Amino acid sequence: MGNTSLERRYTPLIILLLVAALVATIGLWATERAGSKPGDSQYIAAAGTEKYQWKMVTTWPKNFPGLGMAAENFSKLVEIMSDGRLTVHVYGAGELVPAMQVFDAVSQGVVDAGHGAAYYWKGKVPSSVFFTSIPFGLNAQEMNGWLHYGGGLELWQEAYAPYNLVPMAGGSTGVQMAGWFNKEINSIEDLKGLKMRIPGLAGEVFANAGGTAVTIPGGELYTSMQTGVIDALEWVGPYNDLAFGFHEVARYYYYPGWHEPGSILEFVVNKDSLEALPEDLRAIVVTASRAANQDMLDEYTARNNAALQSLIDEHGVQLRRLPDDVLLALWEGTQVAMEKLVAEDPMAAKVYESYRKFYRGVRNYHHISEQAYINARDVVIGDGEL
Ligand code: CA
Repeated sequence: MGNTSLERRYTPLIILLLVAALVATIGLWATERAGSKPGDSQYIAAAGTEKYQWKMVTTWPKNFPGLGMAAENFSKLVEIMSDGRLTVHVYGAGELVPAMQVFDAVSQGVVDAGHGAAYYWKGKVPSSVFFTSIPFGLNAQEMNGWLHYGGGLELWQEAYAPYNLVPMAGGSTGVQMAGWFNKEINSIEDLKGLKMRIPGLAGEVFANAGGTAVTIPGGELYTSMQTGVIDALEWVGPYNDLAFGFHEVARYYYYPGWHEPGSILEFVVNKDSLEALPEDLRAIVVTASRAANQDMLDEYTARNNAALQSLIDEHGVQLRRLPDDVLLALWEGTQVAMEKLVAEDPMAAKVYESYRKFYRGVRNYHHISEQAYINARDVVIGDGEL
């Protein structure tokens, strides 16, 4: 009975002590939770304190509008999202390495990352043309679908793996313009003998049509056209082309961009640099590239029309559509170039299979969705206003 009396006497105290201990524990936990914001010691201890500094080289002039901003946006997003644990210093073309050495510099670990376009590396990786744009291929929306939900990105990673590189989509231009010409193009004969800056598989198509295709970095195009080194060039579209001032060195501006209907830019990251990061920073890199990728398309979509109107109204640019028979001849040349590409390179053949399967399906669906809607809009509104 004594025990019972003792229990009676002390049980409330024991319960009180247990409750007090519990309250103290919860209180401590709550205090820690309340302190879990960037900058607090508990937060940093949980997320890791090590800081990483990357160098990113690009194929564009520093801070160039449109294309050049993807690297800058990526850098800002990464720094903010990681609370400064990962910083990415961006170098424009020629600051650390020339534009056309971005791939090698990242591959060899001279720098950690790069921004450019996959088709610049066609000589090294023939299948890379599919990851930027191919003539008469997928548009921007379709490219993003193929890359992120149609197996395209996995193939891109496979193609770059031998170079110790991890690729990510790094911006999208939408449908480009066919380019700037110093004379009118009325038939396929007019392309013969022309020297044009036109990279990727389209360059081979242009060569098949009797022209000469060259790949020149953006920053050198104005002078090349001005001095007659080239007779024609394609760059991107009105917003970017206006910034480069091509209207000062060429008179005729042609559409549609048969050769680049939905170009995707690229981020390439050295595999060792990426794997040295903790998991949360790797996720931040992937997320920031995805955001920068979409942001570029949004900006072009918003700004191209105003730039085109400025080119026509203020700068007297002559806007022209490529004639259908020229487009048809370019399509025939595309088929020849594609046959050669897939016959010569097994990886290109593998990527082509994936690409064409996706193309068939999305084109089929877009006949009754995007395309049908745009046609319907034209039927009912025509030249009128919403
Ligand atoms: Ca282009």
